[in-house]
Amino acid sequence: MKRNIWGLNLQELETWVVGNGFPRFRAKQLRDYLYKRHIFHFDEMTQFSQKMRDWLKENGQIDKPVIISRAQSDDEKTIKLLLKLKDGSLVETVCMCHHYGNSICVSTQVGCAMGCIFCASTRKGLERNLTAGEILAQMYAFKELYDIPFHSIVLMGAGEPLTNYKEVLHFIHLANDPELLNISYRNITISTCGIVPQIYRLADENIPITLAISLHAPNDRIRNVLVPISKNFRIKDVVSAAEYYFKKTKRRVTFEYILIKDMNASVENAKELCRLIGKMPCHINLIPINSTEHIKLYPPEWKEIKRFQDILLKKGKETTVRKQMGDEIQAACGQLKRRYLNSVT
Ligand code: SAH
Repeated sequence: MKRNIWGLNLQELETWVVGNGFPRFRAKQLRDYLYKRHIFHFDEMTQFSQKMRDWLKENGQIDKPVIISRAQSDDEKTIKLLLKLKDGSLVETVCMCHHYGNSICVSTQVGCAMGCIFCASTRKGLERNLTAGEILAQMYAFKELYDIPFHSIVLMGAGEPLTNYKEVLHFIHLANDPELLNISYRNITISTCGIVPQIYRLADENIPITLAISLHAPNDRIRNVLVPISKNFRIKDVVSAAEYYFKKTKRRVTFEYILIKDMNASVENAKELCRLIGKMPCHINLIPINSTEHIKLYPPEWKEIKRFQDILLKKGKETTVRKQMGDEIQAACGQLKRRYLNSVT
């Protein structure tokens, strides 16, 4: 069977190349063809001998996804791509242009098993994990189309990154590799719905990536409704894990909190959230829910959102309200994919 070499790091390429009788330095050239020069046909890798090119054609392949749909916001600051993978799976990825640079939001799974009631990606459950190469390919899809550099990465697209731990970490190391994309660990954010043991594991990796936790509630009762997987992890334990992460990495954790009318946005909810978090240094990102077609949940009135934020600010909690980007192109989780599937089925 042919080996897919897209997503292999230098060491893995070396093992493959040297193991098949070619000199070690060929692996470096192969890496550069793949990740720097964007050459994906073995015949065009003219630095290699004919013998090596023939061997590559016979034994290797470069599995890159195909871009099947593209959407751009009116201000051109948000671009979303829908990609089709080798097995036909569909994956969404979004690039946001900020004043400080371009940020990409990547998916880590096809579908999602977590079942959050507001999220379009989880409607059909988990189909499969993405490989590190498939996550990396989302970045290269933008690079090939627009030839843009990336400043930061958020693992906040479809899927729960901490339940695809090994591939996600491999991807992070690839993205950080100075010979690939050279993204600093600090500019990589993993967003998780709070898989407690994996937060501890990540903290112990000793890499200073940023952790965002989708909290969305001030207590277990509300959280169990919004984020069903949380029945396995008490909210207090999620916050303790965040505290451990901060102590180990010195990176302040972000708590994401989707604001939903009549569910989690009252004055009492805000006060309870302050009590829950206590004195831990953190950042709170309030996200007025992006209403989707499939579920009748709505954002609170603007004055309620402000009131919620003000309570947190008064208690000394650094709190921002997330700017909505790309609303008109269905940039929220899973919406472009759902629309595409609805149009073809
Ligand atoms: N499983 C991970 C990452 C994917 S979801 C996690 O739970 O963090 C990441 C984020 O997508 C959520 O925190 C939430 O901020 C956002 N999101 C999903 N559906 C949304 C919706 N309908 N409106 C607003 N934000 C949404």
